[in-house]
Amino acid sequence: MAGEPQDDCLFCKIVAGQIPATIVRETDTTVAFRDINPQAPTHVLVIPKAHHKDAAALAAETPQLAADVLRETQVVADAEQLDSYRIVFNTGSGAGQTVWHAHAHVLGGRGLQWPPG
Ligand code: 5GP
Ligand code: ZN
Repeated sequence: MAGEPQDDCLFCKIVAGQIPATIVRETDTTVAFRDINPQAPTHVLVIPKAHHKDAAALAAETPQLAADVLRETQVVADAEQLDSYRIVFNTGSGAGQTVWHAHAHVLGGRGLQWPPG
């Protein structure tokens, strides 16, 4: 069921503390932690604690929680002192999504090309 923890979900395990992560921020509804394979000097993932398979499902099922995630991306960017940064929601395997628990990538600390690859 949407929002319920999934036994086979890596990010649900990070939320539950069953897998270690370098957590940079936590709120009642979200967790932000450093990506294990950073693609920029700052690469933080912001996730809802509740399980939703991707950003679109998150926004459709619990819009307030989607807003919490977006707000936290700004807080992370400020804490990392990023004046320019990129928020990415890879959605679908063709776009590079590999973890099926909604997450925002916050990328910054270097120049970012457009269009992305
Ligand atoms: P996606 O490819 O789904 O958009 O993003 C998933 C991200 O999760 C990838 O950037 C990947 O490096 C990161 N990741 C995968 N496994 C782990 C892990 O165990 N710990 C952390 N901190 N990040 C992970
Ligand atoms: Zn999950």
